[in-house]
Amino acid sequence: MRAVRMTAPGLLEHAEVPTPAVGPGEVLLRVGAVGACHSDLHILDAPEGMFPTPMTLGHEIAGTVDQVGPGVTGWSPGDRTAVYGIIGCGHCRACLRGLENQCRVVPVGGIGLSRDGGLAEYVVVPASRLLHVGDLDLTQAAPLTDAGLTPYHAIELARAKLRPGTTCVVIGIGGLGHMAVQILVATTAVRIIAVDTSTAALDLATRLGAHEVVQAGPDSVERIRALVGPPPDGADVVLDFVGADPTLTTARQVVATGGQLMLVGLAGGTLPVRPVADEPPTVPLETGVVVPFWGTRAELQEVIALGRLGRLHADVHTFPLDQAPEAYAALRRGEIHGRAVIVP
Ligand SMILES: [Zn+2]
Ligand SMILES: [Zn+2]
Repeated sequence: MRAVRMTAPGLLEHAEVPTPAVGPGEVLLRVGAVGACHSDLHILDAPEGMFPTPMTLGHEIAGTVDQVGPGVTGWSPGDRTAVYGIIGCGHCRACLRGLENQCRVVPVGGIGLSRDGGLAEYVVVPASRLLHVGDLDLTQAAPLTDAGLTPYHAIELARAKLRPGTTCVVIGIGGLGHMAVQILVATTAVRIIAVDTSTAALDLATRLGAHEVVQAGPDSVERIRALVGPPPDGADVVLDFVGADPTLTTARQVVATGGQLMLVGLAGGTLPVRPVADEPPTVPLETGVVVPFWGTRAELQEVIALGRLGRLHADVHTFPLDQAPEAYAALRRGEIHGRAVIVP
């Protein structure tokens, strides 16, 4: 079968590989769609030895069951599914509570992370990773598993602060951010302020239900402050889907006293936290800072429900498998608005 594999750090190549054999408890999926994620670029850029090579990338997968392995019950050929990408140890304190994204044993384990992923005609996954998607289009189902699940989890963690009438600033209206706007619209009654450098991204945010948009630049903080008022007031929650120094600076300078910073983007910026009574503080008093990671299986089921109800729709740009390396190059150049989805 055809696959697109990381053959060495930084190198993404087409390959012809045997169709994988399905083992006990596993399912062979015919891949219907795979989302191209910024995390794949981080995997490609990681130093030698951090991720196995050669490895088929792709952790945002939807497909149709082709074969079921010995001992698998509840799944049959033809079932349309989305794949929960994380494979925790299954027996640590976190996994037992359903928080496989916090597994205490497996640091970053999963499909397309520590074993072959979905950038291929077929992929083998443990049957326990599958969720039904009904008649949802597979190019929609695939991005729900990460681009939808990750912002949903971040919003879940901040939900106590997202009271009706509060304000949420969403920084970065890309693959995850455009889903976050819709999840906020569908599940809260907050005022949404979308922030991005791109006017096309801000137009998308407005169409999806953002109440205000701010074009990011040297005056981002002043322009957001004009909407949320001066300290100690401010944004109740800030979702930063970038995580670079400028966005982290904006985030901490617009969040309210007692607010919540959710640092989802992994661009490598630094957030200074100095517990002193200086004015202005690096982070306001009583403010929480969380670095969320992906989400849980139960949350993915809820994200799929939002998709099936028509409340969550990925803005998808499809590429054939032959063009997967080009899709990642476009993603790296910042040319993808919404989500690039590869269709084998
Ligand atoms: Zn991802
Ligand atoms: Zn575990």
